Amino acid sequence: MTATMTQPVTESANERVAINGDLEFVEKLLGSGAAELKYCYQCSTCTVVCPITPDESPFPRKEMVYAQFGLKEKLVSSLDSWLCIHCNDCSTYCPRGAKPADVMNVIRSMSIVHFARPAFLATAAQTPSRIWMLFLIPMIIIAAVILGLVGGSAFGFLSGTIVFSRMMPVPAIDIVFLPAIAFAVVTVLLSIRGFLRSLAVEYPRTGGGESLPTAIMGTLLDVFSHRNFFECTTNKSRAGAHALVMYGFIGLVITTTLVGILYYMNQFGMDAQVGPYDFFHPVKVLGNVSGTLAFLGCSVMLARRMSSGKSGKATAFDWTFLWVLFMTVITGFGSQVFRVFDLAIPAYGIYYVHLVLVFFLLAYMPYTKMGHILFRAVAMIYARWSGRAAVRPVITDGQVRYDVQAES
Ligand code: SF4
Ligand code: SF4
Repeated sequence: MTATMTQPVTESANERVAINGDLEFVEKLLGSGAAELKYCYQCSTCTVVCPITPDESPFPRKEMVYAQFGLKEKLVSSLDSWLCIHCNDCSTYCPRGAKPADVMNVIRSMSIVHFARPAFLATAAQTPSRIWMLFLIPMIIIAAVILGLVGGSAFGFLSGTIVFSRMMPVPAIDIVFLPAIAFAVVTVLLSIRGFLRSLAVEYPRTGGGESLPTAIMGTLLDVFSHRNFFECTTNKSRAGAHALVMYGFIGLVITTTLVGILYYMNQFGMDAQVGPYDFFHPVKVLGNVSGTLAFLGCSVMLARRMSSGKSGKATAFDWTFLWVLFMTVITGFGSQVFRVFDLAIPAYGIYYVHLVLVFFLLAYMPYTKMGHILFRAVAMIYARWSGRAAVRPVITDGQVRYDVQAES
C-alpha cells in the first residue's frame, strides 16, 4: 500500500493547491543514496550554478522540491534528471550539503526501475543482495552449453593449441547471446516506449522545437564531442575518462561484430580469415586499442569514485556497471595473455568468466546503468525536438547570457 501525505503548497483567497506525496517513495530515495535530500531549504543555488540547465523550468532545485514532497510520477518521468550529467557542480556549491547531484542520480536509477519490463529484473539488478541471481543465469547457461558440447570428449579442448572456439564455437555463442540480445532489445524498447509516453505528458512539444533529424544529429554531436561534460567545473576530468569508456566500448562492440561477420563469411565460402588473429591483424588491433581505451577510462572513473568526493556518491547502480565493464575488459585481456603463454586452464577459465560478464552487460542492459545510454540519448533528442532545450544560461566571466540552440 502506498502511503501518501497531503500538503498545501499554495494558498490564497481563492485558491488552495494540495499535492499527494508518496512517503514510501521518499523513504526509498533517502535509503538509495539521497539521504541528504532532507537538508535542502530551497535556496536555488544549485540551479544557478548548473552549467547545462535550460532557462525555462530549470533544474535541479525543482527536483529537490518534488523529491521532498514525494512526487514520484513527476520524478520517474523527469526529462531533466536525464539531461543532468552528474557533474557535481550543484552539490559543490549547495550551502546545505543536500547533494542535489546525487539526488538526480538516484532519480535516474528509479526511472529505469519504473519503466523496466519485467520490473523485478531491474529491482534485482539494483539490489546488492539479489544481484548474484543475475550472474547465476549466464553462469548456468554458458556452462551447460559448454558441457553439452564437450560432454563426451572429457574436456578435450584443454589439450592442444588454445583456441577459444574449441570450448565455445561461434554458433554456440550465437545460440546463447542472440536470444539474450533480442530479449534486451525488446525489453528496452518497451521501457523507452513507457518513458516517451510519460515525457509527452510532462513536457508537451513547444513551438521552439527542432525537427527530428536535426534533434538526432545535434544529440549525436553532443554525445560524441562530450560538449556538456566539458562544461563541468567540479568534475571536469571525468569528461575525458567518460569519453575513453564510451569510445572503447563502441570499439569493442564493432570488434565483436566484425569477428562474427568474418566467421560467417568464411562459413559461406568467402575469402575471410577467422580467429584467432595475430596481433597485427586489423580486427585484433581494433579490439586491443578499444580494450585499452575502456580499461584506462574505467580505471580513472573507479579510482576517482573511490578517492574523490568530487565525483559524487556512487550507488550500487553505478558500481555494478563500472565494475562489470572493467572486469569484462580485464578478463578479455587476461584470456589473451594466458593463451599466448599457453596456459590452458587459466585461459579457458578466464574466457568463461568473460562470456558471463558480456552476457550480463548485454542481456540486462535495460535494467542496469548500461540502460543510461539509451535513456539519456532519448531524453536529449526529446529535449531538442520538444523545444525543452531551446534556451540555456551560459556563464562567462561571471556574466549570465542565454544561448538559443533551437530553430525557431
Ligand atoms: S539542493 Fe542545496 S543549493 Fe539546491 S535548493 Fe536545496 S539547499 Fe539550495
Ligand atoms: S550534477 Fe551538474 S548537470 Fe546535474 S544538476 Fe547538478 S550541476 Fe546540473
